Amino acid sequence: MIFESNQALVDFMIARGVLKTPALINGFIKVDRAHFINKKWQGLAYADQPLPIGEGQTISQPSTVAFMLELLSPESGQNILEIGAGSGYVTALLAAIVGLQGSVVAMERIKILAKQGRENIKDLLGKRVQYIIGDGTQGYKKNSPYDRIIVSAAASRIPEALISQLKDGGVMVVPVGKETQTMLRIIKKGSSFDITEYPGFVFVPLISE
Ligand code: SAH
Repeated sequence: MIFESNQALVDFMIARGVLKTPALINGFIKVDRAHFINKKWQGLAYADQPLPIGEGQTISQPSTVAFMLELLSPESGQNILEIGAGSGYVTALLAAIVGLQGSVVAMERIKILAKQGRENIKDLLGKRVQYIIGDGTQGYKKNSPYDRIIVSAAASRIPEALISQLKDGGVMVVPVGKETQTMLRIIKKGSSFDITEYPGFVFVPLISE
């Protein structure tokens, strides 16, 4: 289904029950997906499907982003790490949700995509929102610990470095698996974890250097 506006796409995700939390809904309304879509694919900007962003990578399907963010449950004022920033779409959503008191560190390993992504969110870049080129599997220690960590590429196993940069009580959402992935929501509780699994996702691979 192709919708005519960002609002119509948001309404669809709400009607499907995938988008629920008011703060997230506001973020999705504020951040226009078309802004993050290449010229060639503009006609499909409001379709609920992944689209190419170049270099063999894709901007995720909006419902998948909504599903992940509902699991992540980001809140105003939090410090968040995002791995696999690509177009910057999720970065912009996170920035809208954490607000002026929060901070977001986004990481992307492919330079060309990072250049594009940084351009897409240039109005947000500064101290509060950073878009960094590098291997996200190592995380970004400088700004740690994080309240929330979201990984938008398929990991073969839970990235250890990221777990160590997560606050106690913090939440990490990461798709894990080879051909298809299971979405994991990991809540750190001291030295143990609460893990909930949601099977049936397909992501481009998380590539460590
Ligand atoms: N959230 C992005 C999704 C991009 S697809 C968007 O909405 O546009 C996943 C991205 O993860 C790709 O751009 C890919 O280059 C990146 N990626 C893969 N392995 C990575 C790693 N180790 N560190 C940082 N980024 C990585």
